[in-house]
Amino acid sequence: MQVRSLPVLQNWDCHSCGDCCRSYAVPVTADERRRIEAQGWEKLPEFAGVPYFVKRGGEFYLNHRADGGCVFLGPDKLCRIHGTFGSAAKPLACRIYPFLLVPAGDHWNLGLRLACPSAADNKGRPLSEQLHEAREYAAFFEASAAPGALDAPPPPLQGRQVLPWGDVARIAAAVSKLLADDDDPFERRWRKVLFVITMLKKAKFDGGGDPKKAVTGGRLSELLHVMGEAADDEEPEAADAVTRPGWAGRTVFRQLVAVFSRKDHGAEQGTAQRGPARRLWAAVRFASGRGTVPKVHAALPDAARFADGERPLPDLSAASTSLLARWHRVKVESLQFCGPTNFRLGVWEGLESLALTFPAAMWLARVLAAGGRAADAAVSQAARMVDDNFGFNPLLGSARQKFALRVLANRGDLARLVAWYGRTAPPAPGA
Ligand code: SF4
Repeated sequence: MQVRSLPVLQNWDCHSCGDCCRSYAVPVTADERRRIEAQGWEKLPEFAGVPYFVKRGGEFYLNHRADGGCVFLGPDKLCRIHGTFGSAAKPLACRIYPFLLVPAGDHWNLGLRLACPSAADNKGRPLSEQLHEAREYAAFFEASAAPGALDAPPPPLQGRQVLPWGDVARIAAAVSKLLADDDDPFERRWRKVLFVITMLKKAKFDGGGDPKKAVTGGRLSELLHVMGEAADDEEPEAADAVTRPGWAGRTVFRQLVAVFSRKDHGAEQGTAQRGPARRLWAAVRFASGRGTVPKVHAALPDAARFADGERPLPDLSAASTSLLARWHRVKVESLQFCGPTNFRLGVWEGLESLALTFPAAMWLARVLAAGGRAADAAVSQAARMVDDNFGFNPLLGSARQKFALRVLANRGDLARLVAWYGRTAPPAPGA
């Protein structure tokens, strides 16, 4: 098994901001616990009486201090274990973040979580220069994977329709190309992708059992190209020309936004996420869509109102458009959007779930900008918040949320939401 980098240029290096050490509940294995216990931390006064681990639901996690930071995070925002014993002495989950290894047939794709600020800002060395490290992590996974896990079949397109891995990669490449098309505003790029998916969902690729008629390999690439051209003809140029999503679509959407924006633990936990009663009340408020937005994440402004999410941002800067395109192309090219890294969604539904993160991030960016952030900073923060949940928040893998996504896609609301929340307004004269 090899690890491959992605065609899209994505850079990253850790800049020791300490965000991940304050944000995540990091699981530790029995071996890792033994290793850390043998490191002698109890000799330092700041560890007197402080447990290194907490147990929740039968699993052990690194403990956190009252300020939300990991118990091993030093005042210089550096990991004490790393500083004293080197990277290899840390739990694997800490070492690997924000890398993602996505199984792709006979190799792993190296993906990245843009929840990390350095990844969102594209700061550091190209991922292609970091393959040696990623190979080390892949070796751990390969050693611990159950037999058969690594030669699993590709994710289905939908239902039982399965194409070989090479064809899944062809689809990903065609989608990534549409998302990279600088001639379109970013929201139209996604509308074109959704048009192609809607058409291809109706197609049969197996040729009815006749291999000569099967749409695979070069034929599939040709079909994807033709569909992309058709999407360019069919999709309205301007977002304003697309019908506004209806009340039902926006209600379902807000409930999904509530999941994409939330932070349930760590220093960025929202006050509305503290305790089941508050969480339930926050869900009710998101469904109603009136009044102030419950603080499901600490970054949300105190006085944000649902009405703020309906007011367009000014035209997106080149920097924001480039961040959004890079974010989604990393998810597409790595194949994180489907299969085991996205709650076992098929290819089409996985792409639809990724499409939904765009209006979700833009809704959030509007709310963050209304609280005083500059538009670029709001878009970046929103993308990080949404990416933190994408593929990781188990609620997004629940039958209820998968059903909600299907409803939005089948009613045509997904493309309308992309246009409605992706539309921007030119700056006011004199602004
Ligand atoms: S969030 Fe990213 S940059 Fe910050 S400490 Fe973690 S890996 Fe490093």
